[in-house]
Amino acid sequence: MNNLWNDAEAANFKGDLGLRVYTSRLLGRDKSLVLHGGGNTSVKIRERSLTGEEEDILYVKGSGWDLEFIEEAGLSPVRLGHLLKLSRLEALSDPQMVNELLTHMTRASAPAPSVETILHAILPFKYVDHTHADAVLAITNTGNGEQRIREIYGDKVVIIPYVMPGFDLARLCAARFPAEARSRTIGMVLMNHGVFSFGATARESYDRMIGLVQMAENYLARHKAWDLPVPRGAGTRKPPRIMAARLRAEISRAAGFPLVMTGRSDERSVAFCNREDLKDISRQGPATPDHVIRTKRIPMIGGDVDAYAREYRDYFNQHAPLAKETKSMLDPAPRVVLDRDLGMCALGRTAKDAAIVADLYSHTMDVIERAAALGGYRALPARDIFDVEYWDLEQAKLKQGGKPPVFSGEVTLVTGAASGIGRACVDSLLARGAAVIGLDIDPGITSLHERNDFLGLRCDITSENEIADALEAGVKAFGGLDMLILNAGIFPGGATIATLKTDEWRGVMKVNVDANLVLLRECHALLKLAPRAGRVVIIGSKNVAAPGPGAAAYSASKAALNQLARVAALEWGADGIRVNVLHPNAVFDTGIWTEEVLASRAAHYGIPVEEYKKKNVLNVEVTSRDVAELAAEMCGPLFAKTTGAQLPVDGGNERVI
Ligand code: ZN
Repeated sequence: MNNLWNDAEAANFKGDLGLRVYTSRLLGRDKSLVLHGGGNTSVKIRERSLTGEEEDILYVKGSGWDLEFIEEAGLSPVRLGHLLKLSRLEALSDPQMVNELLTHMTRASAPAPSVETILHAILPFKYVDHTHADAVLAITNTGNGEQRIREIYGDKVVIIPYVMPGFDLARLCAARFPAEARSRTIGMVLMNHGVFSFGATARESYDRMIGLVQMAENYLARHKAWDLPVPRGAGTRKPPRIMAARLRAEISRAAGFPLVMTGRSDERSVAFCNREDLKDISRQGPATPDHVIRTKRIPMIGGDVDAYAREYRDYFNQHAPLAKETKSMLDPAPRVVLDRDLGMCALGRTAKDAAIVADLYSHTMDVIERAAALGGYRALPARDIFDVEYWDLEQAKLKQGGKPPVFSGEVTLVTGAASGIGRACVDSLLARGAAVIGLDIDPGITSLHERNDFLGLRCDITSENEIADALEAGVKAFGGLDMLILNAGIFPGGATIATLKTDEWRGVMKVNVDANLVLLRECHALLKLAPRAGRVVIIGSKNVAAPGPGAAAYSASKAALNQLARVAALEWGADGIRVNVLHPNAVFDTGIWTEEVLASRAAHYGIPVEEYKKKNVLNVEVTSRDVAELAAEMCGPLFAKTTGAQLPVDGGNERVI
């Protein structure tokens, strides 16, 4: 556990609120303390209102903010006096509590305060920090966890038994804390949930948090439960990509919508998935209630999706007859799969969600294994987990989500994705919610976008091995393939047939035809497994219908590709896969068309460049974006019943019409 406090850095943060932001970010930076919006922090500040009254304000983390990136705007100001009055009520329902928090803020535009706000209010310290530290959870989530916590901390902490986050927990702490706190007390451990620290300054509270977690780590180390050995050879197996795609297809079917599946097959994950006692330790429940809504209660082991879905339905029928409305929003598909060959697989409606689930479960594996090493992992009883999983507040959050974008949960592969039409296709597909695998021979592709839903891979598509590797990496990242945009192609300098060299002809055929055959062939099995049926869009050319002199290799290659697409449409119709072709022309915002080339072509026709760009029936300029948007739409519901079609996107061409 590293203490990240840095005087020079801290000096950039001004005032009580500024330092609250600084140490919150320090906590957020350490993923073993908090993950993806988990944990929360607060500071109590006396302020003068517009009308001159002095009042104490609790600034507490607002919902939707991640500690790592929090700013002052992410801390919601709530009147402390009112919070303390609330804490003395006998009962307060969740909707009432949310209403009280929202109506007692002093800034209307602030985010909704954390559900743990009242708990922060009742602790009589200026700064309060709360994390779900892995090391503390590994100790609380064992058979005799409370005894161990007592042994480690003595009266340094007050121990609170597990109660679901919200008003009841705050009320319990309000009763226990003053009764049990001693002069040495610097924190509070919430069994099966996390840890609080507090202090008079931001630094004191942060230092104490780090100190408390360090003590937990030391305890684990002393009990040989810190270092987790990895068996030799773990993580070296390479299961075929089709296995992962099939699993994702099955799970998407159970869910009723497509899901992105991210695989983690590092040594630690594979070692965990191959533990003899995997069933016992992984099927008890999550490490902290904070994770349950994303990871679901238990992971699926192996690949029997129907059995998992049955068990899932039984589980909530058993615990509560839920409102019809809530029931219809739940899907019985797992979000975490533990598989001996694939390792740990995490699923989500978007690549970002899947990545979050993967991170959460990676830490869960650490907690479970350390607790197991300590004497046995013990999660909360199913009833308590159920209460969090179907909590009104969490369900309300799901409801707020709204309608997902059209390609949410789906995966697209685009070739020639680093520039021009391919790059525009990447943008159009990302904008519609798809995860995108971008291939290009230009190494710049790997850094085209820094986001969870994009994987840029350098790939020479004339190499079958490189295509296989790219598909392997793509399926590992996102779980399968739903759409394929074949865009990569080359346009060599002009040569008449009388002067065309055989090598040049072959070079063009190799990229524009042969490589696309291999891509289609290798992607077919994956596209066949697409939950909403596969779609292929091929970027053809005006030259197919209207070839030009001096472009024999290019025109012939695009015509061959076009014919290949038509045959694919015929062969794959039975699999529900749609194959359509776009024929763009004169798209000048691509790499091929430099200023010089444009100027010389315009001069050839004796017209200005601007006029040359619009030399078509509609007198419009056609951009990469125009082509990309149409390609994306052709994968969407508008074209659901169209296959084998060829559509020009050229502003109208007299020779084609
Ligand atoms: Zn918490």
